[in-house]
Amino acid sequence: MKKHNNKRREALVYHAKPQPGKIAVVPTKKYATQRDLALAYSPGVAEPCLEIAKDVENVYKYTAKGNLVAVISNGTAVLGLGDIGAEASKPVMEGKGLLFKIFAGIDVFDIEVGTKDVDAFVETVKNIAPTFGGINLEDIAAPEAFEIERRLKEELDIPVMHDDQHGTAIISAAALLNALEIAEKKIEDVHVVVSGAGSAAISCMNLYQLLGVKLSNVVMFDSEGVLHKERKDLSPEQVKFATKRHYKNLAEAMKNADVFLGLSVGNIVDAAMLQSMNKKPIVFAMANPTPEIDYNTAIASREDIIMATGRSDHPNQVNNVLGFPFIFRGALDVRATSINEEMKMAAVKALAQLAKEPVPEQVNIAYGETRLTFGKDYIIPKPFDPRLITTIPPAVAQAAMDSGVALRPITDWQRYEGELLD
Ligand code: NAP
Ligand code: MG
Repeated sequence: MKKHNNKRREALVYHAKPQPGKIAVVPTKKYATQRDLALAYSPGVAEPCLEIAKDVENVYKYTAKGNLVAVISNGTAVLGLGDIGAEASKPVMEGKGLLFKIFAGIDVFDIEVGTKDVDAFVETVKNIAPTFGGINLEDIAAPEAFEIERRLKEELDIPVMHDDQHGTAIISAAALLNALEIAEKKIEDVHVVVSGAGSAAISCMNLYQLLGVKLSNVVMFDSEGVLHKERKDLSPEQVKFATKRHYKNLAEAMKNADVFLGLSVGNIVDAAMLQSMNKKPIVFAMANPTPEIDYNTAIASREDIIMATGRSDHPNQVNNVLGFPFIFRGALDVRATSINEEMKMAAVKALAQLAKEPVPEQVNIAYGETRLTFGKDYIIPKPFDPRLITTIPPAVAQAAMDSGVALRPITDWQRYEGELLD
């Protein structure tokens, strides 16, 4: 209890001092003299205004739009804390701004919108979109989040991504591809049991399906039990994953399964359930902060398990920070009009591949490891891997170009890589 209180205090002080919050706005031009100010503001500022009025494309030339992402929430599904409101979501959105900046040099305005109404929310985001080069939707409850993202993608010509859905899907898909390789299993053959049928679980399974998982091999559970074809309470997104088979409970479904995907709540799986799985089981227990099964209990349950969680204090952390900074970096750098499936898939493949490359010494040092090597304790890269910035954005940018959504294609890749390192 004392330890918890200390951590709580530390977190509160971190946010409160020396000034409240985690981000600020910093000018990027000189402002020392009267002349500087006459350029920055009136009368000089009228010139770029007129250029943009003549041709709206010039907004990318004369303003910060092209490197500015809005991290937008209405606070309805914040972390695992639920519907805590717009203001209470602000620390998370500021935190996301911090991560965008330190990992990919992207500036963020965090926007907390005070409405749960889908139309009002969509209208708000549409109306402020001219400010931004991209929109990161965050911590918005399902099923509203699905409709909000779909409508904004349709109506805006800048990249829009709901990170809670796609971030998790992309990172865990990369981990899954590598885990399958280590377990020597084919994605078309594996039986997957999913605990959770919310936004994260649904979008993970949609992506895994694109990668080759067969719908007939998927069984999904929510708090009411198995998603069965006969259930009348399922959303259209969930019906797709409903089964005809009858299972009493999760334990029964997990017998002989190859993959367990947990995106639900903590402590609902026990060692016996893992022991009943097929050989070399892949277990991603990603409920935060408490996984579906404790990491140490899971790896003690059998030797051949490949285990990942959402936590940073264990190997194989499925952490969205491996995705969103770099995906938006690549998308912004080619002026992509969207973040499409091809770009997400490119991020998956690039992340999976990076985990197989020799690990630079500085990564070992940063994580207090002696030798991280591709294997069951290292199936995805670590967030502080300096190669992420030169690996993921080019892959995403290339996919945007190949799929025809890049308004400003990259021609000099070497130079681009240099810019990414700046
Ligand atoms: P969500 O949309 O609220 O979905 C939660 C789902 O879990 C719902 O389908 C819910 O079913 C189900 N559930 C609740 N209790 C359950 C139980 N006892 N057994 C089986 N299913 C149960 O939330 P979300 O955004 O998808 O996130 C879900 C979890 O994943 C959270 O713990 C979150 O922290 C975690 N997550 C982790 C990562 C990561 O990178 N590690 C990323 C995203 C999310 P009902 O609809 O019946 O209540
Ligand atoms: Mg989130």
